[in-house]
Amino acid sequence: VLSLDHLDRFTHSLGPDYSDLLLQAVSDRLIPYGGEVGTVARLNSEQLALILPPVLDRQEAARIGRSILETLSQPLDLEGFEVFITSSIGMALYPDDGSDIDSLLKAANTAMKAAQQLGGNRYQLYTAAISEKSYDRLMLEMSLHHALERQEFVVYYQPQVDLQTGCIVGTEALVRWQHPDRGLISPLDFIPLAEETGLIVPLDEWVLQTACQQARIWRDAGYGLPVAVNLSGIQFNQPGLSRRVLRILEATGLEPSYLKLELTESAVVRNPETAIATLLELRSLDIELSLDDFGTGYSSFSYLQQFPFDSLKIDRSFVRNVTQDSKNAAILVAIIKLAHSLNLKVIAEGVETEAQQEFLRQHQCDMMQGYYFSRPVTPD
Ligand code: C2E
Ligand code: MG
Ligand code: MG
Repeated sequence: VLSLDHLDRFTHSLGPDYSDLLLQAVSDRLIPYGGEVGTVARLNSEQLALILPPVLDRQEAARIGRSILETLSQPLDLEGFEVFITSSIGMALYPDDGSDIDSLLKAANTAMKAAQQLGGNRYQLYTAAISEKSYDRLMLEMSLHHALERQEFVVYYQPQVDLQTGCIVGTEALVRWQHPDRGLISPLDFIPLAEETGLIVPLDEWVLQTACQQARIWRDAGYGLPVAVNLSGIQFNQPGLSRRVLRILEATGLEPSYLKLELTESAVVRNPETAIATLLELRSLDIELSLDDFGTGYSSFSYLQQFPFDSLKIDRSFVRNVTQDSKNAAILVAIIKLAHSLNLKVIAEGVETEAQQEFLRQHQCDMMQGYYFSRPVTPD
């Protein structure tokens, strides 16, 4: 659902007849988005409904939202008058957001209202959050847009420990948002939002840059600690990734062997051939690659061996019960063995107790990370 912002401005100055002309001019620009199967329809004097051809996922829908805003930002010619308009777009996806036209329209309308409330000239995908705690989430989203320029993000580092020697052998960079009113916000609460809005791309680059700078500082101080940086699937699938990573390494003066990148299965399985090519490119730069959160996705070894990873991080859900649950323990041991047979190093996440650490050490897990040794902490 697309609603023209501040239409009363035009009806006051140009007369009510113009609003129809305006809607027509806007519709003309929107028709191409409908393709063969889509439709543009007038809902009322300032709103249009647009049925789009099927999209792959929410990100693609978001891209279309951005593209429509961009298209409509070009001035319209209304019988010789140059008119500038903006709009508020609410998007709902079949079947996730509604299974019939009425519920979809309602959801799109709710999302459109949310876009209006945020000042217009924006698109908003419908989410359950909008109807439940819309205000909260939208405020968060709004402040997320400014968080980078206001330098509100900080990077914490969690040590990674070699289980045989007990030495710190690396760190993982974990971003936090230091919100002016809400305090420190966990990435679990804003990364999904950043992914949906596309903000994840500049954010991940900023974290990469910051972490490389920090690793360089440590190296210069005599601590040669590689830093592991998480990359969102969206960031990973952007073209030219290795070039951008290389540029950051050059700018910070960090040797590539001091950088590790962590990716989840979902980032690489979407488009395996391109993913393998990108991974090989990164690897040829001498950057290590870790598969994060192993055990939560498909977790198919036969599939994963196609991807050139150096290490595998076992998700903390497997580590949690390892000393109480014997099945869980058996799976963990099997994962370690299989990973080693594929020449992958194994890092256990979320180690919270001495018993867990002992278990992992006995079963030849290579490294661990977790609150038992240290929470993520500031660089100093
Ligand atoms: P992850 O990469 O699997 O990171 C490990 C998470 O486990 C971190 O949560 C860490 O604080 C937490 N953790 C570490 N040790 C323990 C433990 O002993 N017990 C428990 N219960 N938790 C432990 P955090 O920092 O909240 O990060 C959550 C997720 O957010 C990360 O999971 C990662 O997927 C994502 N993330 C964090 N920073 C970034 C970033 O810069 N870019 C992207 N794209 N994603 C990030
Ligand atoms: Mg990680
Ligand atoms: Mg993980």
